Amino acid sequence: KQLEVMSCDLSAFPACKFFRVEAIIRPWRLQKVVAQLAAHGIRGLTVSSVQGAGVQGGRKERYGGTEFGDSSASEQFLVDKTRMDIVVARGQVDSVVRIVSAAAHTGEIGDGKIFVHPVADIIRIRTAETGAVAERMEGGMQDMTGVKGV
Ligand code: ATP
Ligand code: GLN
Repeated sequence: KQLEVMSCDLSAFPACKFFRVEAIIRPWRLQKVVAQLAAHGIRGLTVSSVQGAGVQGGRKERYGGTEFGDSSASEQFLVDKTRMDIVVARGQVDSVVRIVSAAAHTGEIGDGKIFVHPVADIIRIRTAETGAVAERMEGGMQDMTGVKGV
């Protein structure tokens, strides 16, 4: 499949202006993903350390044919992952998904998954701004690349 041209089906939420792109990635790819997002003006994001199970299951972190990691019993079924939550305007979802996918991709089992969720509203606590004004960030993707969302 071609990451550069893939697009998300947002048609289930025709009136939704904002979406949360939730990406579960390999922890050691985080810096690369953040750097690529920053280069495109995506400055707002939240990162968490999580553990998960997928096709990779409890197998140790695998890349380039080698396996490494701790093998204690409690971690047998769970693999350390990093979750990124990136809220963006509707028209920026495809760009963000493509940037994250390209930067997180190795082609080996365990690259991760991306979930796209609708977001009803956004409130900037400092200013009490809401909606599109709260979603915009100075020097953000819209300012930098002209890719508007709403
Ligand atoms: P202010 O102008 O008041 O600083 P801001 O919009 O820049 O507001 P912050 O207060 O810097 O927002 O954001 C606080 C935290 O909220 C960030 O550290 C980040 O975890 C999270 N966050 C902000 N924007 C986003 C976003 N678009 N997507 C995901 N998380 C975000
Ligand atoms: N959509 C915002 C903008 O264009 C950026 C959002 C983000 O950084 N998560 O300004």
